Amino acid sequence: MKVVDAHTFERPMYAGNAIVTVKAPATPCIVATVRTASWQECGSGGAGEITTVSTDATIPQHTRFVELKAEKSDRPDLQSAPRVVSGGRGVGSKENFAVIYKLADKLGAAVGASRAAVDAGFVPNDLQVGQTGKIIAPDLYVAVGISGAIQHLTGIKDARTIVAINKDADAPIFQVADIGLVGDLFQILPELEKELDKLE
Ligand SMILES: Cc1cc2nc3c(=O)[nH]c(=O)nc-3n(C[C@H](O)[C@H](O)[C@H](O)COP(=O)(O)OP(=O)(O)OC[C@H]3O[C@@H](n4cnc5c(N)ncnc54)[C@H](O)[C@@H]3O)c2cc1C
Repeated sequence: MKVVDAHTFERPMYAGNAIVTVKAPATPCIVATVRTASWQECGSGGAGEITTVSTDATIPQHTRFVELKAEKSDRPDLQSAPRVVSGGRGVGSKENFAVIYKLADKLGAAVGASRAAVDAGFVPNDLQVGQTGKIIAPDLYVAVGISGAIQHLTGIKDARTIVAINKDADAPIFQVADIGLVGDLFQILPELEKELDKLE
């Protein structure tokens, strides 16, 4: 998640509940993976030079690329969208999820979901956000009818602004939300959309 110096790094553990600082031995070569959601896109015009190198490595034959099969959608990609609207069990049904898609369309946002919503069959599982779903870092994350279980929160740890809509004022999501709206989502979302219409 963070490079402290050439051999010291930060990484999450316990499903993101703790961040551990790891000091690697000062050997010349370190192989590491990065959690992309923890890093801002560098954009163009950076100082880094991209060069093509050729290697003479022997590629193992027992593993090979066959094809990429991915869900196709006209909506913004959940993993990289700057805005995401997610629905949870509180949305109640697959049909009710239309309110989430509607708000997402108004905001030009991708749609996400909690595991409870996925398990209940409201949406396909590639929309799941969290420890066993996608780890995302949008500028805006709107959690609707989501309680804020730690396994969900670990997926939005790096989101910049979190808006929570929940009828339970004691829901844990409000502990991490920058903006919280306590109330019935089926009342709040239409009101929110009316306000957004005024801005158009
Ligand atoms: C190993 C493991 C991995 C997991 N991985 C994930 C993961 O990747 N992602 C994930 O999300 N979960 C994950 N979970 C599950 C997680 O623990 C929670 O069970 C899940 O996140 C709960 O989803 P939820 O918030 O939608 O449902 P609930 O906890 O049931 O919350 C529903 C919320 O909706 C609110 N609500 C109900 N009706 C309305 C209404 N009309 N208006 C407004 N609010 C309303 C309620 O007040 C409640 O807060 C994992 C669990 C385990 C054990």
